[in-house]
Amino acid sequence: MGSNSPVPFIDPRTIVLLTGIMGGLMAIVLYFLRRSYPPAVKGLGEWTFATANLFFAGLAAAAHGKVPDVISIAGANFLIWLGVLYQYIGSQKFFDLQPRIAPKLLSIVGLSLVALWYTVVDPSYRLRLMISVLIMSYLFSLHAHLIYTRGSGSFAHRFALGILLIALASQILRFATAWIYPTGSGILDTTPQNLIYIIAYPFAMLLFAIALVLMATDRVRAEFEHLATHDSLTNALTRRQLTEVCQQELERCNRHGRVMSALLIDVDHFKSINDSKGHQAGDRVLVQFAAAVQTLLRRADVMGRLGGEEFVVLLPETSIEVARVVAERIRTKVGELTEPAPFTVSIGVTTNLTATDTVDALMARADAAMYQAKAGGRNQVILG
Ligand code: GH3
Ligand code: MG
Ligand code: MG
Repeated sequence: MGSNSPVPFIDPRTIVLLTGIMGGLMAIVLYFLRRSYPPAVKGLGEWTFATANLFFAGLAAAAHGKVPDVISIAGANFLIWLGVLYQYIGSQKFFDLQPRIAPKLLSIVGLSLVALWYTVVDPSYRLRLMISVLIMSYLFSLHAHLIYTRGSGSFAHRFALGILLIALASQILRFATAWIYPTGSGILDTTPQNLIYIIAYPFAMLLFAIALVLMATDRVRAEFEHLATHDSLTNALTRRQLTEVCQQELERCNRHGRVMSALLIDVDHFKSINDSKGHQAGDRVLVQFAAAVQTLLRRADVMGRLGGEEFVVLLPETSIEVARVVAERIRTKVGELTEPAPFTVSIGVTTNLTATDTVDALMARADAAMYQAKAGGRNQVILG
């Protein structure tokens, strides 16, 4: 530091170093999450790599003046850009996209060589800063757009989006101040605008890493919730979840005087499919059946598996006449299924009757109607 520069209230080198160390700690957290979370949560490896790059970038930048500029400036820049790129790639994987890495990676390598030129051959902090702002703004924008379009709107997603937009704004501000004020000579400058930037940066980075952890945790919770509430063979709701949904729907109907209907569907002579074609063929019949029914349902309708080859379909805001039409559609659709074996279904249809109707009473009526359908020769719809 020159003898005429003021003693800074804040030491930039310390901040840059601490930023790097924070990145290192977050990389460790992400690494252990990757090891303990199910592989279905993708992107954690890339996020770990990204954050580790920010760690090494911090170390390299903090060593400015003590190591060659090639390392502390050009190297640190390259690592930061690589880190920000891999944060984005990690998120692409997280959202089940196939990232195209090569073009962006090559662009970053190319721009790093240009920045190297303006570090060693024709040193210009202003031009290096412009390149950096360009790359970072581009990647932050892509990333923000990804989370905006793919995110569920959960707290974690909104949090991540917010941080990215703030990071983007800080880059734009940096660009503007670089035009208005003299740019100084590097990231360890004590100009107010540089201090504000390097103080804001670690917070943004830390909060963003936390946002990534929250997103991953959210995903795990959603996976477990799905496992707990859905039948693993047919993806229909489990009996317990179905009963709960039915209870809620019935209470809603009772409160507001609305109508709902329920179908109880049982596969005919299912045992003989198992016996003649094998248990696995039987399983496939159940999967085909459930998938076929789902295509006929509206968003609000739910299907659950009571057990074995018995299913219930709940139709909110649906009269028994309309429910019968839906049941007939299901019966017809089942008639079109031939793989692994043709089969038929018997369906009992019922609707909520009184303001004090219970799930048990509703199910008992649907069951009685279904047994009538069996007794009547199967492959039919009976109203109960
Ligand atoms: P009905 O027309 O009277 O309904 O005759 P059914 O053969 O369909 O009825 P039954 O209750 O006699 O047989 C149901 C069979 O479903 C018996 C059971 O072994 C079989 N089953 C129950 N769960 C599963 C399953 O998850 N996969 C397979 N493949 N079979 C199952
Ligand atoms: Mg049966
Ligand atoms: Mg049965």
